[in-house]
Amino acid sequence: MRKLKRLSRELSRRQEGSGRWNRTNKKLAKLQRRIANRRLEYPHQMTTKIAHTYRVIGVEDLNVAGMKRNHRLALSIADAGFGEIHRQRAYKSEGYGGMLVAMDRFFPSSRLCHVCGCINSDLTLADRTWTCDCGAVLDRDLNAALNIERQALEMVAGVGSRRPKTPGERMSDSSAQSASKRENRAEERRPSKPCQFGTVW
Ligand SMILES: [Zn+2]
Repeated sequence: MRKLKRLSRELSRRQEGSGRWNRTNKKLAKLQRRIANRRLEYPHQMTTKIAHTYRVIGVEDLNVAGMKRNHRLALSIADAGFGEIHRQRAYKSEGYGGMLVAMDRFFPSSRLCHVCGCINSDLTLADRTWTCDCGAVLDRDLNAALNIERQALEMVAGVGSRRPKTPGERMSDSSAQSASKRENRAEERRPSKPCQFGTVW
């Protein structure tokens, strides 16, 4: 990133169309390509690792279009490229004999207490931890991950009666849509926090 800044500064100092300008311009283009490639690589490495490691992957369908309207969330969501990550995970899980289980968008993963099953309808996005009436002190993300894990395993166990969406189904769902629309689809949360329970990440 520092190099990128330096080169752009250098380019602006050069006279446009001159030999030096051309040389710097080429260097700059090369660097920009490298940065773009690295950004594409990361989701690939991550999704491959997840697909290799876990048999059952529970993910949550969130209303990303709605979340994008929240300015502070919008930037990180757009950057994480949720749609693309979700798509890669789906086909990779399938390839390695795993299973991708998607929660319903309305599954109350954060509001549900994983200890007693109560729903806290007062929970806001700002509450990172909360105390349930049963006395359990819950970390928002960990509690959600435990709920998704349980739900995913139940859905897998109940294949037939309440069949979860298979990766194949999800693929055909989304391939019918335009790329930009797919990007807006409800996808995942928590781009960075790894989950030791193997449910989400
Ligand atoms: Zn509780």
